[in-house]
Amino acid sequence: MRAQPTASHHVGGRYLESANGNELLSTFPATGEVIARLTTADDALIDEAIKAAKAGQKLWAATPAAERGRVLRRTAEILRSKNHELSVLETLDTGKPLQETLIADAASGADCLEYFGGLAQTLTGEHIDLGASFAYTKREPLGICVGIGAWNYPIQIACWKAAPALACGNAMIFKPSEVTPLSALKLAEAFKEAGLPDGVFNVVQGFGDVGAKLISHPTVAKVSLTGSVPTGSKVAALSGEHLKKITLELGGKSPLIIFDDADIENAVSASINANFYSSGQICSNGTRVFVHTSIKEKFLSRLAERTRTAILGDPLDEATNIGPLVSKPQLDKVLSYLDIGQKEGARVVVGGSAASVTDYPNGYFVEPTVFADVTDGMRIASEEIFGPVMCVLDFDDEADVIARANNTEFGLAAGVFTKDIQRAHRVIDQLQAGTCWINTYNLTPIEMPFGGYKKSGIGRENGHAAIEHYSQIKSIYVEMAGVEAPF
Ligand code: NAD
Repeated sequence: MRAQPTASHHVGGRYLESANGNELLSTFPATGEVIARLTTADDALIDEAIKAAKAGQKLWAATPAAERGRVLRRTAEILRSKNHELSVLETLDTGKPLQETLIADAASGADCLEYFGGLAQTLTGEHIDLGASFAYTKREPLGICVGIGAWNYPIQIACWKAAPALACGNAMIFKPSEVTPLSALKLAEAFKEAGLPDGVFNVVQGFGDVGAKLISHPTVAKVSLTGSVPTGSKVAALSGEHLKKITLELGGKSPLIIFDDADIENAVSASINANFYSSGQICSNGTRVFVHTSIKEKFLSRLAERTRTAILGDPLDEATNIGPLVSKPQLDKVLSYLDIGQKEGARVVVGGSAASVTDYPNGYFVEPTVFADVTDGMRIASEEIFGPVMCVLDFDDEADVIARANNTEFGLAAGVFTKDIQRAHRVIDQLQAGTCWINTYNLTPIEMPFGGYKKSGIGRENGHAAIEHYSQIKSIYVEMAGVEAPF
């Protein structure tokens, strides 16, 4: 088998198999071929992971922050040195083109490890002057954190969770998506090679039930999930029952607003990136593209022209721009929305169906699709599709487009294209979204906090903001005089 790992799980610094797990298959989405056969974690393996994390965390929290930082930065260098191999693995597991995985997956994970490796030794408390006495605060780890991943950016998600958690002195048990189980194991190998103590980063495989068991385990302090809104609700409910801290990175239906003074070529580029990168399987995608009526036809014709040049095909070929969707269920879901959009009366400008790719008859390919004349009430304009499907909506008035952009339960991201600097900031100020762009889209440098408003999430990943979600503050009052009591 093309990508069979040594074993399914990586716990306590070594590969392990679970005796009573269920079968979990990884497939190459371009062909449907099984590339690895794994097992899900059984209860004994979950207990083993908890035991290992508990021991590892104790040791790790006592390790000087400077050394913790060095281990994270060494891991970043290991990922960079293995970037090609890791990118091929990610392409096999997700179907995303190598052209993308070479720059956006392990590479982003390495950036994140480097950033939080640098921050580790800067984490300090404060001194509080109380006159005769004083207080101070310490930033302490939470303990064992559970990370649960989605399938669109497997190693990136694992790093975005593990790096801040480990920088703060926590241990992590990471459960990858059952659809893309492979690259997190390679991250565990890199951590070990960099000198991370055994048990500080563990990978256990499984479906949602394994995630739920980890969350409800009494020893676990926190869970960070990347996934859909319905899963986020379940995880929040379970975490609430057990009073666990949570970070939720969930779905979106984000607006990208293009004003009449925008640079059209740049706006088209951003719309392409915001809808067709990773075959549209990106949470922050700007899938509702609001275009001012005065430039609509010009925008659409340039967009259609450029979209028709996209190369669909073998994701392992570096010339390929668009690979298959991740799985058959995702293909069926996206195709159903193409049907819904046409029935709802949207105009297909380009694409609109499954794509047939020579030599890949079993691949889950969809044509990059642009729907125009989309109206707010349509399902394609209000539900997260998670595929290469762009909805173009018309607008004339600034206040009106802001209200329409905000008229959604989601609030992950938003973008504005205009050359008017005051309008850009005025509009962004009013958009209800956690991550925004002016005159670009979907860039997520690690220095910038990332996360959602409304149902798109709780908490933030990346930037200094992530530290707040992986540490707790201890306040210590120090009495320098005597103690008075009423009796
Ligand atoms: P999903 O919600 O189906 O699954 C996400 C993870 O949750 C998987 O590992 C799954 O096994 C686990 N899970 C499912 N039920 C669970 C339960 N009851 N308890 C604990 N864990 C459970 O999401 P997906 O289909 O893998 O990913 C696509 C979704 O993720 C989209 O909605 C997308 O917008 C979102 N996403 C968000 C971000 C972000 O940063 N905001 C990033 C990537 C993807």
